[in-house]
Amino acid sequence: MAEVTLDHVSKRYGTVVAVDDVSLAIREGELMVLVGPSGCGKSTLLRTVAGLETASEGTISIGGRVVNEVAPKDRGIAMVFQSYALYPHMTVRQNLEYALKIAKVPAAERRRRGDAAAEALELTALLDRYPKQLSGGQRQRVAVGRAIVRQPAVFLFDEPLSNLDAKLRVQMRAELSRLHRRLGATMIYVTHDQVEAMTLGDRIALLKGGRLQQVGAPLELYERPANAFVAGFIGTPPMNLLPAVVGNGQGTLDGAGFSLPVPAAWQPWAREAVGRRVLVGVRPEHLLPVGREAPGATAPLRMELDIVETLGHQSIAHGRVREAPLVAILEPTAAPAPGSALDLQVPLDALHVFDAESSARLI
Ligand code: ADP
Ligand code: MG
Repeated sequence: MAEVTLDHVSKRYGTVVAVDDVSLAIREGELMVLVGPSGCGKSTLLRTVAGLETASEGTISIGGRVVNEVAPKDRGIAMVFQSYALYPHMTVRQNLEYALKIAKVPAAERRRRGDAAAEALELTALLDRYPKQLSGGQRQRVAVGRAIVRQPAVFLFDEPLSNLDAKLRVQMRAELSRLHRRLGATMIYVTHDQVEAMTLGDRIALLKGGRLQQVGAPLELYERPANAFVAGFIGTPPMNLLPAVVGNGQGTLDGAGFSLPVPAAWQPWAREAVGRRVLVGVRPEHLLPVGREAPGATAPLRMELDIVETLGHQSIAHGRVREAPLVAILEPTAAPAPGSALDLQVPLDALHVFDAESSARLI
C-alpha cells in the first residue's frame, strides 16, 4: 500500500496538451476514480503514473518516492486494462502465475498467491480452464487476479468494465468494491461513466480537457459542483441550467419565463451581484409538481412538455421553459400528457448558481 502524489503534472504530445497541470494526492488505501468525457486525459494520466508515459512536467511520487525516472516494473504498480489480454494458450492458473514466473518467484509461492487470488475472485473452480472457455466477466476477473498476485502497492484500472454488458458491469462493480474493501489497497480507477465513478469512488477527480475540475467525495460533487461542467456531468439526467440575470432589488434570479427569489442566506450576495449573468442550476429530481409537499420555500416554474419517458418507478418529463430545455423526474402517476403545461415548484434551497461566462460556482 502507498499514497500516490501528483504535483503539477502535465503531459504534451507535440502541441496537444493531454494532461494540464494536475496536482492530486491519493491517500493510502483510497479508491480514487478519474472520470471525465472521452479524450479528457484520464488514460494518459494513469499511464504516466504507471510509467508507460513520461510526464512533460511535474513530479509523481508513489509511497513517498519520486518515480519519474523509475521503470514501470519497479514502481510497485499493477494495471488492469479494458481489454483483458489473457494468454489464450495458458490456463487460468498459468495466466495468474505468469508474471510471478517471469519475476522468478519460487513455484510454491506462485501457487500460494495464485490460489489466494483465485479464491478472492471465486475462480478456484475455473483454474484449469482456458480463456476461451470463460465468460467475459470471468475473463475480466482473471485479469484482476493477475494484478492481485503481484501484490502491488497501487492498482491502476483503465475502464476495466467497458467491454461487459450492462448487467455484468453492475455485478463486477460491486465485486471490485468488495475487493477494494478486503485488500485495503490504494486504487486509481479510470472511467467515463459517472455512475461507476459515483458508486465506486471513495473520492472522484473530474477532468475536462486535461484539467482537473473538482476533487471530492461523490456526494460533494453531486451536492456542491464547483462549476457548471461538473454539475452537468454528475447525475442522470444532468442538472438543468437556466440562463438568468441577478435581479435588481428583491434578490431574484430572472430568466425568460421565470423569476426565482434567492434563499434568504444568499440575499447579501444577490445585492452585490445585481445585473450579473448566471446559470441557475436545479436537478431534475428536485423539481416537484404543484400540490406535492415541498421541503422549505419554493417558487413556481411552468414547463411546456415535449415528451415523457415512462420507466415504471418514475417518469422523466422533457420540455422547455420558453427557450431553455428543462427535465423533471416525476412519480410515474404524476406525468401529464405531452403538449400540455406542467406547473412545477422549485425548492429554493436546492438551487445552484454558476457564472454564465466562467461557469464557476458563485455561491
Ligand atoms: P481519455 O482516456 O480520457 O479518453 P486520453 O488520455 O486517451 O483520454 O487522451 C487525451 C488526449 O491526448 C486526447 O486528445 C488524445 O487524442 C491525446 N493523445 C493520447 N495519446 C496520444 C499519443 N500517443 N499521441 C498524441 N496524442 C495523444
Ligand atoms: Mg482512455
